[in-house]
Amino acid sequence: MRTLRTIDEMRSALEAPRRRGAMVGLVPTMGAFHDGHLSLMRLARRDCEVVVVSLFVNPTQFNEPQDLVSYPRDETRDAVLAEGVGVDLLFAPAQEEIYPAGFATTVSVSGITRDFEGDARGRTHFDGVATVVSKLLNIVMPDVAYFGEKDAQQVQVIRRLVEDLNMPVRIQAGATVREPDGLAMSSRNAHLSPEERRRAAAIPRALSQAQEMVGAGQQDARVIEQAVRAELESSATQVDYVRIVEPERLAPIRTIAGPARMLVAARFGNTRLIDNQLLRSE
Ligand code: AMP
Repeated sequence: MRTLRTIDEMRSALEAPRRRGAMVGLVPTMGAFHDGHLSLMRLARRDCEVVVVSLFVNPTQFNEPQDLVSYPRDETRDAVLAEGVGVDLLFAPAQEEIYPAGFATTVSVSGITRDFEGDARGRTHFDGVATVVSKLLNIVMPDVAYFGEKDAQQVQVIRRLVEDLNMPVRIQAGATVREPDGLAMSSRNAHLSPEERRRAAAIPRALSQAQEMVGAGQQDARVIEQAVRAELESSATQVDYVRIVEPERLAPIRTIAGPARMLVAARFGNTRLIDNQLLRSE
């Protein structure tokens, strides 16, 4: 595996593979790898001849300065893990390489970005995500780009973005990887105290409860949302949102008659966690 720092190096490294028609996969990340990241890299390794992982803690998508400062960073460890799953190229640019002096463009997706994370974290969050992902897709020009279902709204924002801007890339979502007690893996889990970590298990518990209710025939979204909220409120410091939505446009639904996804966000101490679960009626 080679670690590349500049856009020029990245482009030259892909020239020969692209000329011979090799399929290129990109996994965009902010580092601090866990099994969730590695599962996306494994998916890419299975599908593609060349696997590129980008590692860039994107400052423009952070709405809380403290969150950016305390974001875990360990490139040496990340490089070992990426190499271990067969990644070919690690693109780890400096901030000035991505945002040089004079940088003035923002890619902004409207509609689907308004609620949930857009509402909780403000406009800048998804603007930051859409802008950096557009840049990474333009730099690497992958055939396939991999994103985690854990960030379900982000996946739909990226799908909207590539469709609207006619970007020639396939977006592949990877299943959420979980800890043994069901908590979704996240770089932010490291900030939880042992006691908060125990309480955070309420999230997967509440999501399973939602699935059980749907499986038992409950179709009223409000009833399920109330049960999930109650379960979360008994453990979380603060519940940001609990909503059942149509999985593509993320419009809230009242009666579960077809595809539905439950989205939740809650704080445990100062750590904000998000998760989601597809609800199946059969
Ligand atoms: P991040 O480094 O947090 O920006 O995440 C990089 C990619 O990994 C994103 O597409 C995330 O959705 C994905 N990801 C994060 N956590 C998980 C997880 N537990 N399971 C699967 N994918 C994940």
